[in-house]
Amino acid sequence: MAEADEELLERFASHSVDRDNAAHFRGRLNRQLLINRCGDCGRWHHPPKPVCPGCWSTAIEPSEVDGTGEVHLLIRLHQGPPAPGVDYSTPYPVVTVELDEQQGLCFTATVEEGDIAIGQRVELDWIERAGVPVPIFRLAREVSL
Ligand SMILES: [Zn+2]
Repeated sequence: MAEADEELLERFASHSVDRDNAAHFRGRLNRQLLINRCGDCGRWHHPPKPVCPGCWSTAIEPSEVDGTGEVHLLIRLHQGPPAPGVDYSTPYPVVTVELDEQQGLCFTATVEEGDIAIGQRVELDWIERAGVPVPIFRLAREVSL
């Protein structure tokens, strides 16, 4: 890995940063949610892989998504791996969101508690945890017409 990647590994020490997802984590430092998109067929995929699952092209471009979508899965963790700033006693909410960019394109992150439920529209925001930005979903403020 390049020298710049060593800093990345250090800052995301509690994550499994590797060659495939390094660009995604680098994006997080700029509060950008980068998802791999195929330069040939336009298909998005996540988690990051070096080859497009649609057409096997290697012309993969980490591309920023809007971060809006719909809650497909909602879980509240009562226990889990120790992580800085994560409190399982409350418990800790996690959602899988189908992003608007493509049907079936999902991203999993924590969510701001409140009236969150499956099927609701959410948008992406960022919080700071252990010195790095962490993606978090919130109920969408926009009103869809
Ligand atoms: Zn493709």
